[in-house]
Amino acid sequence: MSFTLHGIPVSRGIAIGRAYLIAPAALDVDHYLIEPSQIEGEVERFRTAQGTVHEELEALRADLAADAPSEMGAFLNVHTMILNDAMLVQETIDLIRTRRYNVEWALTEQLERLSRHFDDIEDEYLRERKADIEQVVERVLKALAGGSQSALDGVHGSCDEMIVVAHDIAPADMLQFKTQTFQGFVTDLGGRTSHTAIVARSLGIPAAVGVQQASTLIRQDDLIIVDGDHGIVIVDPAPIVLEEYTYRQSEKALERKKLQRLKFSPTQTLCGTKIELCANIELPEDARAALEAGATGVGLFRTEFLFMNHKEQLPEEEEQFAAYRHAVELMNGLPVTIRTIDVGADKPLDAAAESYETAPNPALGLRAIRWSLSEPQMFLTQLRAILRASAFGSVKILIPMLAHAQEIDQTLDLIREAKRQLDDAGLAYDPNVRVGAMIEIPAAAIALPLFLKRLDFLSIGTNDLIQYTLAIDRADNSVAHLYDPLHPAVLHLIAFTLREAKRAGVPVSVCGEMAGDPALTRLLLGMGLTEFSMHPSQLLVVKQEILRSHLKTLEKPVADVLAAFEPEEVQAALKRVAQA
Ligand code: PEP
Ligand code: MG
Repeated sequence: MSFTLHGIPVSRGIAIGRAYLIAPAALDVDHYLIEPSQIEGEVERFRTAQGTVHEELEALRADLAADAPSEMGAFLNVHTMILNDAMLVQETIDLIRTRRYNVEWALTEQLERLSRHFDDIEDEYLRERKADIEQVVERVLKALAGGSQSALDGVHGSCDEMIVVAHDIAPADMLQFKTQTFQGFVTDLGGRTSHTAIVARSLGIPAAVGVQQASTLIRQDDLIIVDGDHGIVIVDPAPIVLEEYTYRQSEKALERKKLQRLKFSPTQTLCGTKIELCANIELPEDARAALEAGATGVGLFRTEFLFMNHKEQLPEEEEQFAAYRHAVELMNGLPVTIRTIDVGADKPLDAAAESYETAPNPALGLRAIRWSLSEPQMFLTQLRAILRASAFGSVKILIPMLAHAQEIDQTLDLIREAKRQLDDAGLAYDPNVRVGAMIEIPAAAIALPLFLKRLDFLSIGTNDLIQYTLAIDRADNSVAHLYDPLHPAVLHLIAFTLREAKRAGVPVSVCGEMAGDPALTRLLLGMGLTEFSMHPSQLLVVKQEILRSHLKTLEKPVADVLAAFEPEEVQAALKRVAQA
């Protein structure tokens, strides 16, 4: 039976294919009955996994810095206690012995039983301890599987005709799509600028997120259509609907082909103002797509994606240096803006998970530069690696999430220290490498003189600027309707930053998702933006808008947008921007 689901469009285009369902990774386990002769072996398997997790927790405890918050030690103690608690251990072993369940089945069955008890507890603190039990069980399951599992483990062979359907996909797992070719993807959770959505957009395949219950309503191998322009998913479409969407799909392919003609024309407005179009990349190899799309540089290299699949520790300096150098060399002399690590919130990092998994509000916690400054040795390693790559091309260093003068000063001190260390080691780097800041916290935009005085360039991160200005989690689909790039407060912060930076002669770009949205290109041009950075897949469609724009005619309608506060007035003025 055909039915339609609605979600949030995150990556344009139409995909038609068979559903490939990805189950939630950790707790989806095999269920089978074992022979009586296998019982003791199965119990032994459980004991070994328990021992492995015990060692992991001990290693984490040993690694705790002397000045680590006491909650960290307490958190590890709780997990060790749960790991050895009879309610988990003895009951699981009983299920293996009496029911002859395999250990994974017994363990998840016991977790379910315990969870039911916890759900009935009135005390909120105790009720929340359920999450601790789940985390311990996940650790044991990982140990049983012989390491960590990825959502895409088990995906083999050609996936060309498939559309991935999942409850949620971690950004790290989404990275693996870069090596698999899927038609599109759909998730139950997520917001327009969640990092999962951003990586999906970089793949240039149609996608919809926040399609609630998609992963429970859609079955394996169902024929589905994903309309990535409108966030619509049609399951088991009627023949006439299928025909209509197949037609639209071929129209879009034709449009994309036509856009290719713009690739070699210079990017300038009708009045002759030159505009820089740069690319956002997640991995060094993405630089190829950037060049292919005609980008004149990398405006944002999100280095945290290099760190994500490292389970034990962050990569050594040599490994990082090789990655940065590779991106720089691929860009062949064009500038590469390398952003220092921005982990936390919806970009978890296995090697550092403990420091923020327990944070009450990770988006407001030890994220990005805050985390780097709290780990100076790790930060220096990254800075040395980036600086060394600067000897092989044009490199700029970009710092995420700065808000305070002392954070900027500490960062600049550490960059000086990294240079000193390289001098001592006799290693080459560009001594004039420019250092810039992301403007993505409202406080940074409002206190812009602090930044203009200390930094060489700025890059506006509209994704976080919107999140923090409007106090809504960018990855939470339940508040996605409030994520509004056109909110007057957001527009004022952007316009102010562009104006003040220009007045001070400090180069400024926009690298958030607004820069890659062709519906906003004219508005940003009218506000004075001359440097955009976006996913390579968006570059030509934004270029097309630029080639059709005249700055003089944009002045009045853009001023009207900025003067408007009522949503209808903003929309009406925006219409005039589009028609100017
Ligand atoms: C932003 O916040 O707009 C940005 C570009 O950074 P990220 O999306 O990686 O947080
Ligand atoms: Mg950001």
